[in-house]
This record gives sequence, C-alpha cells and structure tokens, in this order.
Amino acid sequence: MIVKDHCHLYCKHFLKGGCMNEVLYPELINYIYAFCGDFKTLDEKIAGRTILYMQMNLNQKLVASLKNRGWYSDERHIIDMLAGGRHAFVVSVATRIYYEHREQLKLNVCPRCFKIAKTPLAKQCQFCFYSWHDKVECLSI
Ligand SMILES: [Zn+2]
Repeated sequence: MIVKDHCHLYCKHFLKGGCMNEVLYPELINYIYAFCGDFKTLDEKIAGRTILYMQMNLNQKLVASLKNRGWYSDERHIIDMLAGGRHAFVVSVATRIYYEHREQLKLNVCPRCFKIAKTPLAKQCQFCFYSWHDKVECLSI
C-alpha cells in the first residue's frame, strides 16, 4: 500500500511537470526513441531504418529488396528528415513524441531521482544507482 501511495504521488508529481523529466536529456531521448516506437509515424519508422541501412554501404540489389519491403526509402521527404544526421533525427523524433504523447508514455523512471532507467525492465538507476528490485512494479505511467 505504501508503494502504491508512493506511485500515486509520483504520477501526480510527474504530470504536474515537477520532475527532472521535464528537460529532455540524452538518456531520456534515447529511451523514448528506442522504447516508445508505437508513437513513431510511418515516415519516422522508415527514416529510422533508412539511416541505419545507409550507414552500411549495402549493394544496390539489397537496397532494392529493402525498398520493396518498405524498410528503405530515398524519397525526398525521408531524405530531408535525415539531412541533419542520425543524432539530430533521433532528437527530433523523441522530442516530438515526448511533447505530443507525454502522458501516454510508459517511462521507467527511478523512484528516487525520477530520471529515466536504461530500459523498460531495468530496476537500478543509471544516475543515482538506487535499486528497486524488491519493489512492486508500478512506476510506469
Ligand atoms: Zn535515480
């Protein structure tokens, strides 16, 4: 019950915008980009795959095959999304998702410092090293 109360307080705290997650720091950006893919647009998904494949210097036959599957695109609007490089693209996508879907995101945050964990299943903080392995899972909002 204590844990539940803690979560309730935590969620209110989070939704009021009174915690560290208000500022998108690199670890939060990477988490959102990696684990909140349901909120990516189709173009963002295609662009994300395209830039990964672009870095692999694939042969034309393989590129054609990827295009057929919808995993690679050289359409103007996709290339424009990637013009600033992968890092700028990741920041842009994560920032959009955060501001448009903030209250729907399942963010695994540290119960002590409220910063983001490395993965949705992590139970130890990458910042303050607090461990919540023995706590009930209820911190996702
Ligand atoms: Zn922490």
